[in-house]
Amino acid sequence: MAKRRVLTGGIAQESHSFNPIVTRRERFTIVEGPAAVELNRGANSTFGGVIDAAFEVGIDLIVPTLFRAQSGGPVQDRVFEEVSEIMVDAAKRGDFNAIVLPLHGGMLTESLADPEGVLVERLRAIVGRDVPITAAFDLHAHVKESTLEPFDFLSGYLTNPHEDQSATAKRAFQAAMGILDGTFKPALAATFLPMLTLGNDTTLSGPLMEIHAYAKDALKQGRVQDVSIFNCQQFLDVEGMGQTVLAYGNGEIDEARNVSNEIMQMIWHHRDNLIAKYPDLDDELRKVRVSERSIIIGDQGDRVAAGGPGDSTYILNHLLAANIDVETYFPVYDPDAVETCNRVGAGNTISLSFGAKYSRVSPGVTVEGKVLNIGENVPVVYDGPSDGGTKAYIEKYAVFGIGNIKVLLTNQPYAYIDPDYFRAVGLDPENAKIIVTRSGYHFQLNFAKIGHVVTADTPGMTSYNIDQFAWRHARPFYPLDKIEFEPRRYERLRR
Ligand SMILES: [Zn+2]
Repeated sequence: MAKRRVLTGGIAQESHSFNPIVTRRERFTIVEGPAAVELNRGANSTFGGVIDAAFEVGIDLIVPTLFRAQSGGPVQDRVFEEVSEIMVDAAKRGDFNAIVLPLHGGMLTESLADPEGVLVERLRAIVGRDVPITAAFDLHAHVKESTLEPFDFLSGYLTNPHEDQSATAKRAFQAAMGILDGTFKPALAATFLPMLTLGNDTTLSGPLMEIHAYAKDALKQGRVQDVSIFNCQQFLDVEGMGQTVLAYGNGEIDEARNVSNEIMQMIWHHRDNLIAKYPDLDDELRKVRVSERSIIIGDQGDRVAAGGPGDSTYILNHLLAANIDVETYFPVYDPDAVETCNRVGAGNTISLSFGAKYSRVSPGVTVEGKVLNIGENVPVVYDGPSDGGTKAYIEKYAVFGIGNIKVLLTNQPYAYIDPDYFRAVGLDPENAKIIVTRSGYHFQLNFAKIGHVVTADTPGMTSYNIDQFAWRHARPFYPLDKIEFEPRRYERLRR
């Protein structure tokens, strides 16, 4: 038998419907070809998982392109079309046995509510039904009927904060191999419910820990082959939005149907408990005064990791008003301020205005300070464990000092889920007393070794105060609306 080849790549980003900043091409890290494989081998990312799974069984990968960006506003249509064209052209060239895609599943474009479904539909139209197409998705994907239709198999992360990206992709890869070998006939039972989890959605404790333990048990008992529980990204204003449970049997759908229903019932049963408030910012800042340890604060209201703009000044204004002048690293997205610092040059003192151009919960800051450092294109390598080994870079930045507070101004928004973002610009995380990140979950894993990690209840575009938005497509859904437990269902058995 000739050596198998697998086509991989695509586009991965998580979108926020209410973030007005369209995600353009320059926000993406783009890789392709053998160099992409070399660069991402061993990374705890979905792409890294595809690569490692392929290496394990000596399979060659074709990577026409892979666009990856941090969360943000919907992706520019033209960027999606560029990726789609490259992938479709590669599909037309053929010479592969299966397609395995490392996607997110919670992406939007300016005009598409289900771009992942559209991309795979186009690939399916070329390769026909005989070539398996599988994918790994983020736990916060919005998976709907149109997404599932062109796929043979789809698997999602089982952890939040996410630490099983690579393992998820390996399952997707192995499913494709099983289909080729004739040992796996995916029988999918999907259940959908229009509800959101808001705040109590870590899998490390509480209801989701219990629900995932139940799913694991179903796998162990051999009732199903794979289970995914998608707790939809909370800021997607699209039709059919909500929780999705996938259960796959092997040739048999009955038990998959049962497991899928049972898990959705558990989610519904725990619905009130899946909503929770985060710790109060003042309470957390009080701890700074009495504790030797440093504190790393996730800005709940402006998480770039959840699609926020990354320019909220809420916590900084809070620090300035309270005269908290300890060694602090505070990141803000503001291209204009970066330009101003560049013009002025490092070492000079100026009055600078920055922040709050998109986030409106707290006014922009105008203050005298010193331009400490400027630079561009500095590499970042994630310590992990979340996305450990992932390589990124900070495009243009300036570090602006206000007393002991170091404001990290950037011309792109970043989530700062890893300490290496600060090291990259010359700020040693070990020296800080307060570090602010624009993530709610993942930074907690990666900063745990540095100090006390906490996500604070702050207002903004990514706070779970979701009635701040003018929803147009997603409603009715729980908790904004009173709904009955009447899940939608979708089933498919591969012949
Ligand atoms: Zn996620």
